[in-house]
Amino acid sequence: EGPADELGRLAATLNGMLDSLATAYRELEASHAAQRRFVADVSHELKTPLTTIRGNVDLLRKMGDDQPAVRQEALADIASEAERMSRLVSDMLVLARADAGFTLSLKPLPVQQIIEQVGRQAKILAGSLNFKISCRPSCENIRILADPDYVKQMLLILLDNAIKFTPPTGVVELSAECSGDVVKVAVKDTGIGIGPDELDRIFERFYRADQSRSVGGTGLGLSIAKWIAHQHKAEITVTSELHKGSVFWVTFPVFSRPDQSFP
Ligand code: ADP
Repeated sequence: EGPADELGRLAATLNGMLDSLATAYRELEASHAAQRRFVADVSHELKTPLTTIRGNVDLLRKMGDDQPAVRQEALADIASEAERMSRLVSDMLVLARADAGFTLSLKPLPVQQIIEQVGRQAKILAGSLNFKISCRPSCENIRILADPDYVKQMLLILLDNAIKFTPPTGVVELSAECSGDVVKVAVKDTGIGIGPDELDRIFERFYRADQSRSVGGTGLGLSIAKWIAHQHKAEITVTSELHKGSVFWVTFPVFSRPDQSFP
């Protein structure tokens, strides 16, 4: 083996390293571009409610004293836009923490307990809508590794959407079943559904499908839900049919069964 072979190997190694470096830079650039887009979207989303608030304040200054109806309406608009801004800011804080590499602290929790607690909260959100909850016997005493606050936040995002996008005559159902090594939690609704071309995009930050823009969410819910799922080594999938309804599945790995002791 001569010095030429050695040089050849060295050149190949160097080439390989250069390739990985180029890939790393491309990825970094892409993530910078994504971050720049996020900041641009954020300022746009915050400007819209601010403009409405300013307009209503002007209106109040001009005619708030002599027209009680105008006054009431302007105040209601200001209150709801302020509410929207505060939802946006708190959603953005969760995502900023996620981008900064924040990780959740997981502990073993019984599936039944999570479903019951989330179900109670969702029942209130659902109001007069038909809301069903079922935890199959297969889940009895099954535990998953979860951060209680975040796992509830994730399921409530899915339930809040299901309720928001389902007419009052529809049905929303939260269910859990365990088979093999996984626990499948499903949030089903009989609402407006999601078109096939939109299904891929709904987990993107700020994405809202055309037919649902009027409902007035932030468009950040599902991207937060996805991050929380991945923190739990869980997967979120969705099947949906326009005008029929949607099912969001969260598949968690089982941590322990009743016959297994754990520390
Ligand atoms: P938001 O609900 O605040 O608009 P999300 O990120 O939670 O934002 O959802 C993104 C979009 O996905 C929604 O705007 C809507 O178009 C669609 N979507 C989510 N869940 C449902 C559902 N259960 N039924 C119909 N469309 C849904």
